[in-house]
Amino acid sequence: MTQPDFPTELLNIIDIEATCWAAQPPPGQVSEIIEIGLCVLNLRTLERVERRSIRVRPERSEVSIFCTELTGLTAADVRNGLSFAEACEVLRRDHHADSRAWASWGDYDRNQFRRQCSATGLRYPFSARHSNAKQVYAAAHHLPRLGMAQALAHAGLPLEGRHHCGEDDAWNIAALVAGLVKAGQWPAAS
Ligand code: AMP
Ligand code: MG
Repeated sequence: MTQPDFPTELLNIIDIEATCWAAQPPPGQVSEIIEIGLCVLNLRTLERVERRSIRVRPERSEVSIFCTELTGLTAADVRNGLSFAEACEVLRRDHHADSRAWASWGDYDRNQFRRQCSATGLRYPFSARHSNAKQVYAAAHHLPRLGMAQALAHAGLPLEGRHHCGEDDAWNIAALVAGLVKAGQWPAAS
C-alpha cells in the first residue's frame, strides 16, 4: 500500500533557559536567554528527528550560582556561545524558524524572545504558527495547566536527561506533543 500523499510536517519545539536569580535581578541586570533547546518532531511519523542546544552569551547579565544550580549552565559554558543575534540567525537558517510551526511548554519562551528582540532591536525569528503545548495538554485532559515534569508523570512518560536543561526539556516536551498528536488532540492548523 502506498503512503498517503501529504508532505512531512516538521514542528520545532523550543525550550529556553535564561539568566535568573532567586528574587529580582541585581541592579543593572536583566534576564537574558543563555540556551535555546530545540527538538524537531515529525508530526507524521511522531519521531523526534533532531535535537540541539544553542548556547547564547549574555550581554547584560551574569550567570548566578542560583542559575547554574537550576540549569546546569555555568558562566564558562555560555561565555563562548553565540550572540543573541547570531542565535536568531541560526534558528532561521538551520531550522526554518520564520516559516515552520513551533511549540513551547507555556508562553514564557515566546514572550522572552519577543522581549529580548524588542530590547535589542532584532527581528523576531519565529513564525506566528505557535502552539502552547501546556495549554493544549490541559484542554485535552480536562486538567489545570501542569508543569512539564508533572505532565510527563501524568502521561506515564520518563523525564529523560536533566530538567531545566533546554535541550532535554525540548526533547521531553516533544514526547508530550507526540502523545497529543497521536490522540488527535494537536491543533491541525499548527
Ligand atoms: P525551564 O524551562 O522550566 O527550565 O525554565 C526556563 C527559565 O525560567 C530558566 O532558565 C529560568 O530563567 C527561569 N526559571 C525557571 N524556574 C525558575 C525558578 N524556580 N526561579 C527563577 N527562575 C526560574
Ligand atoms: Mg527548560
